[in-house]
Amino acid sequence: MKTLSLIIFFFVNITCKESTTVYICNSPGAKKYHNSSNCRGLSNCTYKIVKVDIEQAKKDGKTLCAWEK
Ligand SMILES: [Zn+2]
Repeated sequence: MKTLSLIIFFFVNITCKESTTVYICNSPGAKKYHNSSNCRGLSNCTYKIVKVDIEQAKKDGKTLCAWEK
């Protein structure tokens, strides 16, 4: 049953968002993920901007950027 509730959790999460792909700044100190690659929070990223799955970003301990809340 635990697996089932996890699946439901992810499903709800996915349907609430339009995309499951987010953008992160590939710097060692980056703690945020971004829904938009044009986000102003990414504009001062001096590292590479990479696309990752939102679940992966969350697993890495990243949270949604403050500009997009
Ligand atoms: Zn952002």
